[in-house]
Amino acid sequence: MNISKLVRKNVLSLQPYSSARDEYKDATSNMIFLDANENPFENGSNRYPDPQQTDVKIRLSELNNIPIENILLGNGSDEVLDLIFRVFCEPNEDNIITLPPTYGMYSVLANINAVENRKVLLNDNFQLNVDEILEQVDANSKLIFLCTPNNPTGNSFTQESIEILLTKFNGIVVIDEAYIDFSENESWLKVLHKYPNLIVIQTLSKAFGMAGIRLGISYASKEIISVLNKIKPPYNVNNLTQAKALVRLNKMEEVNNEINQLKSERKRLYQQIEKISFVEKVYPSDANFILIKVDDATKRYNQLIDLGLVIRNRTNQPLCDNCLRISVGILEENSRLIRALKIIK
Ligand SMILES: *Cc1c(COP(=O)(O)O)cnc(C)c1O
Repeated sequence: MNISKLVRKNVLSLQPYSSARDEYKDATSNMIFLDANENPFENGSNRYPDPQQTDVKIRLSELNNIPIENILLGNGSDEVLDLIFRVFCEPNEDNIITLPPTYGMYSVLANINAVENRKVLLNDNFQLNVDEILEQVDANSKLIFLCTPNNPTGNSFTQESIEILLTKFNGIVVIDEAYIDFSENESWLKVLHKYPNLIVIQTLSKAFGMAGIRLGISYASKEIISVLNKIKPPYNVNNLTQAKALVRLNKMEEVNNEINQLKSERKRLYQQIEKISFVEKVYPSDANFILIKVDDATKRYNQLIDLGLVIRNRTNQPLCDNCLRISVGILEENSRLIRALKIIK
């Protein structure tokens, strides 16, 4: 597979902006930096951040056993996803494939970048319609977006169906693993080396509890990472974010403890919500939220708002008639939700 054939021509021939910090990296303590027009009075943030976020990448590399050449970081997954569009998709010419009901950003980014979005619905079990997906592919199909565990349905796609797409699709398969830490399934990072056309996206926004710092991570072959690096804004991940991320990534015991609590609360919520009379279905979840089907989603949503509980009404999403999505909170929050569900008539 030749990745450069998939890349937009203007990106292929692009000379990346070379920042002052890119040019001279091997700082020693007695060097004086008069190259970037920074304010020289030290206050902790007067210098530009490391454009390659090397310390954070080294830590991610240790945790996941992936070389740092296979990692690119962004200002949230949202930025990483946007970079992927802009590297591979020629506006008004190329197309992507998304699999609703799924994360809304893929479609938003397709619209912003003037890229056709070919939607292939999931089947009734919220699994991939592999044959239909492959039928939609043509010479201009550059990307397929798979979100597993999927938002808002909560389930994971089968390994076999994903493998078929990875081997049969002559474009890039983006697997969004925002919720992987809540799943018993293995991450696709384990087989990253086998698929030159695979991009795995992760984030510190969910299981790592760092939505406020905005750090998104993409893992892919060296070829893909180096072309994404060509168009990345040089200082896209700020100093404060890099520092906070590093602290958090060195507290894996705390992170894992929170994940385990959320998984046990997810189980309790599932069992309690199942008993509510107006709940027609509770879908199994590999994520930190639960999708439920009720008699009248908008009525139940408004009743909960009146009781001070905000959940997400997904009734207008395809295949999600009368569905509500509920994030797993801490014990007290979930107990309040359960009490509210028992009260409303
Ligand atoms: C929450 C979420 C993300 C995270 O996006 P960030 O920009 O990293 O906060 C990514 N993908 C999916 C499917 C999500 O639900």
